[in-house]
Amino acid sequence: MELIDGNQIAAALIAELKAEVAALPGRKPCITLVRVGDDPASVSYVRKKEKTAAEIGLTSRIILPPVTISQTELFALLDELNADPTVDGILVQSPLPRHIDEVAVFRRVAPEKDVDGFNTINLGKVAQEDETGFVACTPAGIMELLARSGVDLKGKHVVVLGRSLIVGKPVALLALQKKAGANGTVTICHSATANLPAITRQADVLIAAIGRAEFVTADMVKPGAVVIDVGINRVADATKKTGHRLTGDVKFDEVAPHCSKITPVPGGVGPMTVAMLMKNTVKARRLRA
Ligand code: NDP
Repeated sequence: MELIDGNQIAAALIAELKAEVAALPGRKPCITLVRVGDDPASVSYVRKKEKTAAEIGLTSRIILPPVTISQTELFALLDELNADPTVDGILVQSPLPRHIDEVAVFRRVAPEKDVDGFNTINLGKVAQEDETGFVACTPAGIMELLARSGVDLKGKHVVVLGRSLIVGKPVALLALQKKAGANGTVTICHSATANLPAITRQADVLIAAIGRAEFVTADMVKPGAVVIDVGINRVADATKKTGHRLTGDVKFDEVAPHCSKITPVPGGVGPMTVAMLMKNTVKARRLRA
């Protein structure tokens, strides 16, 4: 079994981006991070994105509207950022407060600044295999992890657990694309899927993105499969100072011995998500230059 080291692969990508940004003439790419309220996970995600941007040499701006901001006010802020020529990329950190329609916010970000890749146009470009769009960062990160780990999906049965707009659907579309590294035969499973273990057992490559701690057990995995664990779940753990630990959607200790390759949590898909956001921001700057 080989561990797919997301930290190491993300570090290589970040080093490449740093060199690319250093060689860019003129204004450095600028990402604006909008974090509504103080959700603790969002605070740490935005901090990590800000730190990585600085490491690469990108300019970042952080905007912290209060949790009470109305949808109209948030739209006005996005309209301002959309029109600002010094802003290349805009990321609105999710989750948003309940009174705000998250998908409407994704649609409001100008497609050419939508480095998160959730705007209708960019999701559509994934379906159309149009490389001028922005691919959502977690699915793009999964594809990059696979490519850099020598996993070619051509002819493989790829089973995606989860059909969210953020992970499941776009990663399934990417695995299905008619291009080098992809060309997978894709099955998407969700909460209404019957006989789920019988399907996951057919997977050459299993991508788990359901948000259920340690849901995937050894009996659900074909020997020799590649397993990508997207889940980030907090489970209570009295032995930790924080009282919790992070775990994926895969029961790692049990599944790992069965796999040819597997990602750990943390240190698998997570670091790639941040690196791909930076890659998208550099691309946005280039496309707008
Ligand atoms: P969502 O909650 O939006 O979607 C979960 C999906 O899993 C849904 O399609 C749901 O089905 C399906 N599902 C839930 N329970 C089951 C079940 N028992 N059997 C089969 N399918 C099930 O989650 P996200 O896609 O946003 O995130 C998934 C996980 O990935 C989370 O742990 C999240 O924290 C993590 N994540 C990690 C990122 C990273 O950078 N590493 C980035 C983004 C997310 P249905 O549609 O029928 O409800």
